[in-house]
Amino acid sequence: MQTQILERMESEVRTYSRSFPVVFTKARNARLTDEDGRQYIDFLAGAGTLNYGHNNPKIKQALLDYLAEDNIIHGLDFWTAAKRDYLDALDEVILKPRGLDYKVQFPGPTGTNAVEAAIRLARNAKGRHNIVTFTNGFHGVTMGALATTGNRKFREATGGVPTVGGSFLPFDGYLGDGADTLDYFEKLLGDKSGGLDIPAGVIVETVQGEGGINVAGLDWLKRLESICRAHDILLIVDDIQAGCGRTGKFFSFEHADVVPDIVTNSKSLSGLGLPFSQVLMRPELDIWKPGQYNGTFRGFALAFTTAAAALRHYWSDDALAQDVARKGEIVAKRFQTIAGVIKELGIEASERGRGLMRGIDVGSGDIADKITHKAFENGLIIETSGQDGEVVKCLCPLTITDEELNEGLDILETSTRQALS
Ligand SMILES: *Cc1c(COP(=O)(O)O)cnc(C)c1O
Repeated sequence: MQTQILERMESEVRTYSRSFPVVFTKARNARLTDEDGRQYIDFLAGAGTLNYGHNNPKIKQALLDYLAEDNIIHGLDFWTAAKRDYLDALDEVILKPRGLDYKVQFPGPTGTNAVEAAIRLARNAKGRHNIVTFTNGFHGVTMGALATTGNRKFREATGGVPTVGGSFLPFDGYLGDGADTLDYFEKLLGDKSGGLDIPAGVIVETVQGEGGINVAGLDWLKRLESICRAHDILLIVDDIQAGCGRTGKFFSFEHADVVPDIVTNSKSLSGLGLPFSQVLMRPELDIWKPGQYNGTFRGFALAFTTAAAALRHYWSDDALAQDVARKGEIVAKRFQTIAGVIKELGIEASERGRGLMRGIDVGSGDIADKITHKAFENGLIIETSGQDGEVVKCLCPLTITDEELNEGLDILETSTRQALS
């Protein structure tokens, strides 16, 4: 396998190619193939970007058909038939059946673009600068979004320029069992000398992806919503990783029956791994002036096309949602078994997650790395998350076959025994 030019020319900033130092060539659903013809089961799936698998044939066909004629590929933010068709699918398949009424903004194509737009919108709508965010939150790496991202590694990358405008509060469970961390938020809001600038909005992941698969309780989310309502604070759910069905509902907040004021989506939104993001906002919050949040790639026609196909194909009924719940249970059971294997070796370990967003906390990044390195040798792509990379996480395609899912879980269990014995 030729890796010299890759190693020589690509910046040291590269990440995943360090964990998986092979040259990948092909992929289909949950299986990747490298240049030597070796196959791997994919439990990373583009960090949650490939919920419908690699090269999903139904979604890809829509792209091929679109490309076959001279349809618009780039059109700034022109009205195009592709955009109209996507909005139609979003409204008919997702929003209306859930009783949701949102206007849609297409910022640049990345998740962090959507977060930047969402927090600026919240600030301008409320005339306040502060955004409350939570410990271990990850919301992207541009300056504005970074002010709401906890991880020091990313925060230090600004070269010392302070990120401003975010106040960190303890996420659900941060202070251990028995403490409702929202007591602190509520107390600060009522305390004139508590030191918290009354925020324009609160940004939250219902399950923290990069932060270690930390799951917010449904009651906690509901209480967060009511605190926001009581204090005229906007609730922003960053559903970039947990959305698009990952937790077993299209929007992760549906489980808690909350209705955010603003929602961000990206990662799996295009359905095929194409760059695409959106901000959903309650209509009365749409206080943008024309062109005030700008960008060359605001809505990518190819992504509109594949996203519409994904919504129509997978969300017109609840078959996929039910399948995610079922497969999530399979992963949860096997993760409990694997955590048990680790505990027998005298290392504390536990399983957690919602739907097909699951992890095993093994307490340290070193142990997690040993397991994931061994798994890679055995043909499984799986990554870690959490402040120290201490959580081995499963983000397999939602469309993975039971056979591949079980094969991946078998590899993980074997690799865990091999790595730690
Ligand atoms: C990945 C992610 C982002 C950032 O998206 P990018 O496309 O990497 O900019 C923001 N929020 C959450 C929850 C994410 O998982």
